[in-house]
Amino acid sequence: MSLVSSTSLLQEARAKHYAIGAFNVHTLEMLQAVVEAAEEAQSPLIIQSTVGTVKHLGADYIAAAARVAADRASVPIALHLDHCNEFSVIISCIRAGYTSVMIDASHSPFEENVAMTQKVVEAANAVGINVEAELGKVGGVEDDIVVDERDALLADPKECAEFVERTGVHTLAPAIGTAHGIYKGTPNIDFDRIGRIAEAVDVPLVLHGGSGIPEEQVKRAVSLGMAKMNVATELRILFSDAIKHVFAENPDENDPRKYMVPAKKALKAAVIEKMQLCGCAGRAGDF
Ligand SMILES: [Zn+2]
Repeated sequence: MSLVSSTSLLQEARAKHYAIGAFNVHTLEMLQAVVEAAEEAQSPLIIQSTVGTVKHLGADYIAAAARVAADRASVPIALHLDHCNEFSVIISCIRAGYTSVMIDASHSPFEENVAMTQKVVEAANAVGINVEAELGKVGGVEDDIVVDERDALLADPKECAEFVERTGVHTLAPAIGTAHGIYKGTPNIDFDRIGRIAEAVDVPLVLHGGSGIPEEQVKRAVSLGMAKMNVATELRILFSDAIKHVFAENPDENDPRKYMVPAKKALKAAVIEKMQLCGCAGRAGDF
């Protein structure tokens, strides 16, 4: 199968009340691990890279690897660019073969967010790929985007409706109380707000900051209309921890083909668990 746009995957997920896991990868082994997880769980998959990873590896390398993975896979796979506020990076990713991009102009005033998002939607529609945008501010740290958690502003349902109508954006990430990174306590998610936003807009909603949200809270958010769940930090930590463990046990290990194996296994297992939690496991047959 070729890489697919995430729009059809997410519309189907929203209609059937489950969410598709979107997993940030930073190396070839991480990409392979999430694809193996999707195959084993028979789940649709969204592979994500941050702008930082695009700058580190190159959009063309990432897209080429994702294309090979999708060609070999029996499950539908989309390749998504996470949080990006640079139009030129978005265009270079689209050109490289990404099938989904996020324009995050949520740090700008509403009208500027609308204008930036409209511009990206126009470019994406020309090639038939998905655009995700953000309203309000998700707390915490993701790459170099830093938002003071206390000042994080939540999305307003009426503004969400106006934003979706004016921009034609395909998927929306409204700030509803989750944060990037690892939570210090239990996240304070505004479930009522998720419900009101889902009523106000008909596009699939995206849950950011999926690392470490308690299972019951994930299920509730998904039942209210979240159709994509982003998981990044948690996976990066467990992948790195598995490698650290190898070196703690065997400081002389010097073969990446060996020390990466436990990390791949740990990542694959964690991703399968997230797919089961989101409800996308076993849903590959829907497409
Ligand atoms: Zn995010």
